[in-house]
Amino acid sequence: MTNKTALVISAHSADFVWRCGGAIALHQKRGYDVTVVCLSYGERGESAKLWKQEGMTLDKVKTERRKEAENAAAALNAHDIQFFDLGDYPLELDREAKDRLVDVIRKVQPQFMLTHSKYDPYNTDHMYASQVTLEARMIAQAWGHNPGEKVLGAPQVYLFEPHQTEQMGWKPDTFLDISEVWEQKRAAIECMQGQEHLWDYYTNVAQNRGNHFRRNSGGQSGGRAATHAEGFQSIFPRTVDEL
Ligand SMILES: [Zn+2]
Repeated sequence: MTNKTALVISAHSADFVWRCGGAIALHQKRGYDVTVVCLSYGERGESAKLWKQEGMTLDKVKTERRKEAENAAAALNAHDIQFFDLGDYPLELDREAKDRLVDVIRKVQPQFMLTHSKYDPYNTDHMYASQVTLEARMIAQAWGHNPGEKVLGAPQVYLFEPHQTEQMGWKPDTFLDISEVWEQKRAAIECMQGQEHLWDYYTNVAQNRGNHFRRNSGGQSGGRAATHAEGFQSIFPRTVDEL
């Protein structure tokens, strides 16, 4: 039997760590194969600390960011991480790059997908990645695209928590208890040497979402005492057999 699968689409090489590292580690533990696609390394816009070093070049920054992301993916036990190296600030996908993303989606055949919030005026790369994800998902479902390939079903798309949450029009409808994999997520966070200013910030976010999990979990999760959680906003309705 083949494993269940999930796919994360991250605009820059560190985004998947802060925003859904717990979901990655947890689903790996539950027997899923989770694939991460980093559309860029965040080499121009999210690597300020590296650029402050003497003699820094774009290639050196990319190499460093790639190493950090690979280490983080290993800490989360992610099945696979792929780097599209499409550039950042701005991130842009031409037809060929979009088709490459469609190919990955069809190959992975994810049970669910994770990506950025729909709106992000601070970082248009993030909302662009979200839009491109929905476009690629749609194309992957089309019988007329590369006929003969296995088309995609209808996986849920979860939008992970953005930075500056309240400014993004992002409203979580799902809290995932990541308590049992928190140490893995923290280890992955600490792989991001260039963004140490975010380590404690995202620890606090996870603790606060743990509080929200506890506050809402009475009927759904037996009131389990989660210490850490991640919030997600789902794009599509859930289909259920019981409420
Ligand atoms: Zn980013």
